[in-house]
Amino acid sequence: MSLDSTLSCVNAGGPGSMVRFDHVPQLDQETRLSAEALHALSIWQARPGEVMTLVDPEATAYRARIISMDPAQASCMPFARLPGAVESPLAIDVYQSLPERERFELVLQKLTELGVARIVPMESEHSATLEERDASQKKSHRWPDLIRKASRQCRRAMLPQLMSVQSFAEALLSAESAELKLMLYEGAANWTLTEGFGSFKPRSVALLVGPEGGFSLEEVERAQAVGFLPVSLGPRILRTETAAMVASAIVQSYLGDLG
Ligand code: SAM
Repeated sequence: MSLDSTLSCVNAGGPGSMVRFDHVPQLDQETRLSAEALHALSIWQARPGEVMTLVDPEATAYRARIISMDPAQASCMPFARLPGAVESPLAIDVYQSLPERERFELVLQKLTELGVARIVPMESEHSATLEERDASQKKSHRWPDLIRKASRQCRRAMLPQLMSVQSFAEALLSAESAELKLMLYEGAANWTLTEGFGSFKPRSVALLVGPEGGFSLEEVERAQAVGFLPVSLGPRILRTETAAMVASAIVQSYLGDLG
């Protein structure tokens, strides 16, 4: 059984957030957008005057200024054609054990810039729970907004999906379909991260990142039982947010489009 269908995406990210032209547009000509594109613009909470990254049916990306936008229609002015794709051909899903305080916000911002496809906050044995984090001040409602801002800033064509907080068991199940599953483990891992993929060129990678207190031995065994390979990031112990960013950058660089 896969949980994928029941996992809820809380920010309407993913391919549906890509703003698409329905034909190859002419530069510097006002172009009417379809109802689907208008819907995608609303996911970004776009406003007239804003500059966005749009994609045409041939997968060419453009920078375009939104000229008009009302509930019925929208138009934009494409002014630059980009030399290559903006979204990575590699789908990186990061399962991040919930860190304390502001660190998760940093993770959201930096993983968005690094081009990951999906971010799944996860509760593990030694992680904070969402209730503990939100007890003093509820901050989780700001997460989708942080992702939108980071996506705009780095000119992504698509918002990464932000999923609802998962238990460890749910996270293992929802990562089931990833072609490569790597668990960042500072314990007795026999493999480094890059050895973890070797010459394999997967199209999707799931990265499991532990909390400040680390994964328990039982969690390592449960992840291994469903196909996760524990891998090391080297001899130093990194903060959980550093580990998430470094691993995403290495994977994107070797297997995706970074560098
Ligand atoms: N349990 C450890 C301790 O207290 O000694 C530290 C956990 S570390 C701060 C947080 C998470 O980042 C780990 O669970 C792991 O997923 C990842 N991590 C940090 N350094 C790592 C390394 N050198 N290799 C692999 N993963 C690492």
